[in-house]
Amino acid sequence: MGTHDELRALPKVDEVLKRPELVGLPLPRWAVVEAVRREIERRRQAILGGGGASVERPSAEVVSADVLRLAEELARPSLRRVVNATGVVLHTNLGRAPLAAEAAERVAEVARGYSNLEYDLDGRERGSRHDHLRELLCELSGAEAAVVVNNNAAAVLLTLAALAEGREVIVSRGELVEIGGAFRVPDVMRQSGARLVEVGTTNRTHLADFERAVGAATALLLQVHRSNFAVLGFTAEVGAKELVALGAARGVPVAIDLGSGTLIDPASLVGAGLPHEPTVRQAVESGADVVTFSGDKLLGGPQAGIIVGREAAIARIRRHPLMRALRPDKLTLAALEATLAIYRRGAAHELVPAVRMLAMTPAVLLARAERLAQLVGPTAQVVVAVVAVASAVGGGALPLAEPPSGALAITARDGRGAEALDAVLRAGGLPIVGRIAEGRLLLDVRTIADDELDAVASAVRAL
Ligand SMILES: *Cc1c(COP(=O)(O)O)cnc(C)c1O
Repeated sequence: MGTHDELRALPKVDEVLKRPELVGLPLPRWAVVEAVRREIERRRQAILGGGGASVERPSAEVVSADVLRLAEELARPSLRRVVNATGVVLHTNLGRAPLAAEAAERVAEVARGYSNLEYDLDGRERGSRHDHLRELLCELSGAEAAVVVNNNAAAVLLTLAALAEGREVIVSRGELVEIGGAFRVPDVMRQSGARLVEVGTTNRTHLADFERAVGAATALLLQVHRSNFAVLGFTAEVGAKELVALGAARGVPVAIDLGSGTLIDPASLVGAGLPHEPTVRQAVESGADVVTFSGDKLLGGPQAGIIVGREAAIARIRRHPLMRALRPDKLTLAALEATLAIYRRGAAHELVPAVRMLAMTPAVLLARAERLAQLVGPTAQVVVAVVAVASAVGGGALPLAEPPSGALAITARDGRGAEALDAVLRAGGLPIVGRIAEGRLLLDVRTIADDELDAVASAVRAL
């Protein structure tokens, strides 16, 4: 058959749409029509590209077989829920912290209707969105004042712009970090209009380095949490209290970017074996003027940047023109308020998912992996085994921690590799993202929710 004949033999859109297997589908009509168009077009291109000989016989029936899969794909939302089976609790690519159930409910409630976002219900006048969380944040952190922005990168940018634009900010060379997604301290500093003054060395910085650098142009001393790396060996760093004492003596404010920021010392999570991490309250108690941290890292809330500290500094930050561009929306505020309310009643260990997952002991996790293995049961296609693994905290928090966990190790009986199995699990209706180690696909149960175990088990059985 020549190219011309082949093109003429392509079925028409209407013809394919009439195929019985495409009638009455539980899929939106536009997706089916679009899928038919694309499938016919794909074959047309194949013919024109000279691959005609290898093209399937392009009947309406043949085309319709591919249409179903494509239409389902087109109809699916792009942003979807997935099962995190990586064991990385704050997985940046998987949306970091899952919200507590009551935080999600508050979001739904506020999202569906109107709210008093900027309305003072007592005075029948205009209110401020920044007032809703102030008391709660002050109570939990011990700070005088607090304000929330879109994320912690925004919190740092705004702090620098409001307190140090056109002037100097002194930072240790050991803390000029890059966080994922191109957040680099020197670049953020440039964007804010502040001038970076680096002191000390990569591994050792002393108070004397800061003392020598403070001058008339100094606006701020900044301490940045190393977050995603560690410096080991011959090291020295200046503590927050020393920095604050120097700032007080020279009349220069101090800011601490905690990065993750936590209200609970991870070392206090009994049985989890996590390292000590200074809390937000400790940073505030050091006397720093400003402390910034994320809402969706160790705190386990929504994406947000939280700024707490002294009234004077927070007032300048609130008034800065950039605030309008960086302010949080009502959904963020609803989720954050509900999350913080859980901390206030001391229930974060049970009710904030990220905290609960980090607090799980190896024994509990291995028992969970056993339960998942039982739910999978014997299958003809794959062999599953319960193995001890190490999870990670993720999200630029506790970079050296490898809390022990339990996982399901999956290998195919038919010789399919771990990559192939992984691809099948990721392509499902509820995608499951595991990790591959030593040729096996691992599903770490630390980050799989209880109500996801059944779905994971049936996906594994169907491999
Ligand atoms: C994560 C992090 C940031 C950025 O926070 P986001 O909430 O991701 O915007 C800034 N500084 C430090 C030290 C961090 O660890």
